[in-house]
Amino acid sequence: FLSHSLQAKMSRPVQARRLEGIDKNIWVDFVKLAATYSKVNLGQGFPDFPAPDFLTEAFARALSGGNHMLHQYTRAFGHPPLVKVLAQFFEKLLGRDVDPMTNVMVTVGAYQALFCCFQALVDEGDEVIIIEPFFDCYEPMVKMAGGTPVFIPLRPNPPKDGKLMSSADWQLDPAELASKFNERTKAIVLNSPNNPLGKVFSRGELGLIAELCVKHDVLCISDEVYEWLVYDGKQHIRIASLEGMWDRTVIIGSAGKTFSVTGWKVGWVVGPDRLLQHLRTVHQNSVYHCATIAQEAVAQGFQRELMLYGKPESYFVQLPKELQQKRDWLVQSLNGVGMKPIIPEGTFFLVADISHFKSDVPDVPNSDEPYDYRFTKWMVKNKGLAAIPLSAFYSEAHKNNYTNFIRFCFAKDDATLKAANDILQKWKQEKTS
Ligand code: PMP
Repeated sequence: FLSHSLQAKMSRPVQARRLEGIDKNIWVDFVKLAATYSKVNLGQGFPDFPAPDFLTEAFARALSGGNHMLHQYTRAFGHPPLVKVLAQFFEKLLGRDVDPMTNVMVTVGAYQALFCCFQALVDEGDEVIIIEPFFDCYEPMVKMAGGTPVFIPLRPNPPKDGKLMSSADWQLDPAELASKFNERTKAIVLNSPNNPLGKVFSRGELGLIAELCVKHDVLCISDEVYEWLVYDGKQHIRIASLEGMWDRTVIIGSAGKTFSVTGWKVGWVVGPDRLLQHLRTVHQNSVYHCATIAQEAVAQGFQRELMLYGKPESYFVQLPKELQQKRDWLVQSLNGVGMKPIIPEGTFFLVADISHFKSDVPDVPNSDEPYDYRFTKWMVKNKGLAAIPLSAFYSEAHKNNYTNFIRFCFAKDDATLKAANDILQKWKQEKTS
């Protein structure tokens, strides 16, 4: 009798409706696959080389130095030394006044910054434009806020001269972009440099987006976590510095990417108080604040970088220099085996074309699983090399057009990249023998 009544009480759904359709997550699946099978993991985006000494030393000092208050709560919207130095830094980058208390907020990684943006700024029925391919959490976060994502793909234009494609060859169609803006559009998510392609949006492209934002009174959520990882002398341009954009833009950054400490989960937002005041409401009612010691150490890291700004010893100069070499190395390695790389202008990711490997992992027509998912799973299980399928970065509607590519992360030790090259070379030999 008892068990019957208990069963009856458990028959209604326990989950909130806002979770419908967003329960799947690529990272949960692929991180597990990589942990189980990979010998070389170029999948998830994190460096496997050490963080800079000046930063880990700052953390150690914060942990065991004289200031025991660093083990306690700090200011909810950001540890004062960190928001102060971020404000100073962004004043330099944007050429405008930035108030540490009202124009900066520290978050638990860029991930929570994104969550605060969508929860604070997007309402039921609002449309949010997302440029494909996109960092996958944008879509479920918009939906959780009750909004409707509207997707626009970057369109590839392969160079005709037989050269390798560059991420710059993936472009927005201006008319198509304009057609996505209407009276329901609340915001556009911009991610430059873009994960997964590595595209660094040009001033012209940003100008076009800015013009449409201003014309339609649309906000811009600008995910700039890879702002320092730009190559070949290209420049990262901040859309907030374009005319009319500061007042409608939230800039998002991450110490994880900036200082190679993804596990610390320190991120930030920079923007006008009229937007940030609402992000603070979400933040104070969800996580309240991020670990004090990590914030203190990141503050010291930025103080060092402020002093060395533009100098050769600056980590923001050294890291991209090292990563560019790693990029070039992986480009060569992939090109050598016929897995054509798309040369990224920024980030630590690289997308490669797997069309020539189709004979190894044959297509299964009418399968629910996109080809690149199957290929990536096969590769990690049979070759021990982990990557991420590109179609994971597309909406359901557009996924099937982009199943011949996979994404590699090259923020890896030279030994890791060499081990990846060994796997690819051996694979090529097996194919030809
Ligand atoms: N945005 C983009 C584009 C990213 O690639 C990532 C991390 N992969 C994040 C945000 C999240 O950053 P964090 O680790 O600081 O939460």
